[in-house]
Amino acid sequence: MPIVPPHDCPRCPRLVAFRTAWREKKPDWFNAPVPPFGDLGARLLIVGLAPGLQGANRTGRPFTGDWAGDLLYATLKEFAFAAGEYDERPDDGLVLIDARISNAVRCVPPENKPTAAEIATCRDFLQSEIAVMKNLVALVALGRVAHDSVCRALGIKLSAAPFAHGAVHRTAHGHLFDSYHCSRYNTNTGVLTPAMFRAVFETVRAHLDGELK
Ligand code: SF4
Repeated sequence: MPIVPPHDCPRCPRLVAFRTAWREKKPDWFNAPVPPFGDLGARLLIVGLAPGLQGANRTGRPFTGDWAGDLLYATLKEFAFAAGEYDERPDDGLVLIDARISNAVRCVPPENKPTAAEIATCRDFLQSEIAVMKNLVALVALGRVAHDSVCRALGIKLSAAPFAHGAVHRTAHGHLFDSYHCSRYNTNTGVLTPAMFRAVFETVRAHLDGELK
């Protein structure tokens, strides 16, 4: 089993303070390190940035409860990586198929911006997770922060695998596919369109189906 942070993980003082403040303001929210979603035996691992304040930090499931999840789960369903109804709740019955979703940073950061030290500190958990996913053949990094943290977790020099939307990098743990993050900001500004996002997962599906060499 991978190492997992405790509910009151003390490692990042700034994030602990933020989490504690939100526990007081919203005691019915999750407000803790958000655990990954999906089976450790999956062949695909999707890595996001960090829980959104009113999304995963509120609901306790990655990408659940905000716009990023609307686009991600609709796309995963389209390419048969998810089944069931996504209803923005951890108990909506949605299941992932041969896929798992995690984050580079497990606690919600202020303004969606973790520091370099926080990303490095939380990488222990991501690295441990990747290490125990023995069937892994593909990783999807949602955004540069996730890409860089995955590369560092895998011991890959960033200069050898620069982030670019649509880029594919070969690693010892399978192919690493890059996408811009599916945040509302990126989609509102046209940085990422649903078609661009679908194209990434179409390539991932082809890879898992053995059509991509
Ligand atoms: S971000 Fe990660 S390392 Fe930092 S406090 Fe949360 S779980 Fe712990």
